[in-house]
Amino acid sequence: MGLPRARPQRSRTPHLVAGVWFGFDAPSKIMNEGFAATVAVPAWATFMRQATAKDKPDWFKVPAGVQKVTLCRLSGQLATDECRWRTEMRVPQTIAVATTGSLEPAPPPVPVPVRVPVPDAVYEEYVVSGSVGPCTLHGPHAAVKAEFAR
Ligand SMILES: [Zn+2]
Repeated sequence: MGLPRARPQRSRTPHLVAGVWFGFDAPSKIMNEGFAATVAVPAWATFMRQATAKDKPDWFKVPAGVQKVTLCRLSGQLATDECRWRTEMRVPQTIAVATTGSLEPAPPPVPVPVRVPVPDAVYEEYVVSGSVGPCTLHGPHAAVKAEFAR
């Protein structure tokens, strides 16, 4: 832990970018308990509240040439349906059944492939249009590679 020094606080709206900073050129204690939360944040919050008081709720417009896409978390490329699933080998549940007169042991259960969803396998991001191709780790022709990648 270093000395309590205020850190810059920044914020932006579609119409205003603002930041405040308290401190010295060289690392130095500015006051007891002089953390950002006690120095910069109150000043920044007061300014932003007043500066945006008359603004309507708004959101950033996506610039031309940029698009929102869904990306594969493993490859960072455009997600395909296959990115959301993985295949596990599972032994099917068996039910004991009474048989009459058979001396043959039951065959051992055979694992079968089961597709299971992968939580958080994909995420949304803004990218330059056309800059990202489809996932090469997953998909119908990449199933074997995908299993090793997980
Ligand atoms: Zn993928």
